[in-house]
Amino acid sequence: MPLEGPLVDRYGRVHGDLRISVTDRCNLRCVYCMDEDMTFLPRSALLSYEEIARVSKVAFDLGITALRLTGGEPLVRKNLTALVTQLSAIGFEDLALTTNGMLLASLVQSLADAGLKRVNISCDSLRPERFNAIRRRGNLATVLAAMDAVEAAGLVPLKVNVVILRGKNDDEILDFARFARESGRVVRFIEFMPLDASGQWDRNQLVPGHEIFERINDVWPLSPKDNGSSAPAERFAFTDGQGEIGLISSVTQPFCGTCNRVRLTSDGAIRNCLFSDNEFSLRDVLRSGGTDDAAALVFRKAVWEKFPGHAINEPNFLQPSRSMSMIGG
Ligand code: SAM
Repeated sequence: MPLEGPLVDRYGRVHGDLRISVTDRCNLRCVYCMDEDMTFLPRSALLSYEEIARVSKVAFDLGITALRLTGGEPLVRKNLTALVTQLSAIGFEDLALTTNGMLLASLVQSLADAGLKRVNISCDSLRPERFNAIRRRGNLATVLAAMDAVEAAGLVPLKVNVVILRGKNDDEILDFARFARESGRVVRFIEFMPLDASGQWDRNQLVPGHEIFERINDVWPLSPKDNGSSAPAERFAFTDGQGEIGLISSVTQPFCGTCNRVRLTSDGAIRNCLFSDNEFSLRDVLRSGGTDDAAALVFRKAVWEKFPGHAINEPNFLQPSRSMSMIGG
């Protein structure tokens, strides 16, 4: 394992993107992610903002250029703006947030002022009752208002994440495509991944990205756009120039070969893949008086040991023991 130079794994993938889960708690209970009753980590298990900032600086010095704050729901953690201020001072090229939008509208301007550069909002239906059925809490009107607030704060273009579930919201694929065309927001259709807390995932519930593409392309032709070398979404512009969508086909068309992402769970473990149970605790190092060099070594080891791919499509695949909200999506 190299002890200097970029954060590289044994397959030559250089890592530049760190996803930080600031909490495993959430104010929604989306059916594809959480159970109604969840057991959350005790507060003392979570990294403090100072610990997160310290780890982020170590990551920056290792060549991480992009940070994304996620969860759980990052905005249920108090005073996230203070963390954004600390992270922004480190100097990352990109500093982004993934949120369900429920608490965002009143906070987004202060987050932008603190240095937040981009926002992704999750929204799985444009129909109020359906939204409630899938997300079990919250409401569509609040999320739509949050989208307006993000744009008013100048964080454009806004990305909207939609998990498409067979028989639940796949009849809204064209509605979301129209929404992208009319709003200028980039709608990203995500395949349902085996990361639900209830362990109910099966392949029949996911709608493959190619099917989503065909359904949209039949009505509004699409042309591929350059997606950068390691972005998970395949990007497509509407050929008539009116808007853009993305497809995140993690299950049917894995993009592991170009994956440059590594994750920090809210309890301070480095996770090199959503689908691998291998975790490398940074919190233990930090809380036992470890140096930044010792923390950097944990990063290097975690990345070095990354598997070549996620193996969802292998016969012996086992769903990871921690679900999406516990890892950080
Ligand atoms: N609470 C925030 C939110 O709703 O965006 C951030 C965390 S959430 C885990 C991040 C993203 O993961 C969301 O877009 C969510 O829809 C997606 N997600 C959660 N569980 C998923 C699953 N089993 N398959 C695919 N996407 C999932």
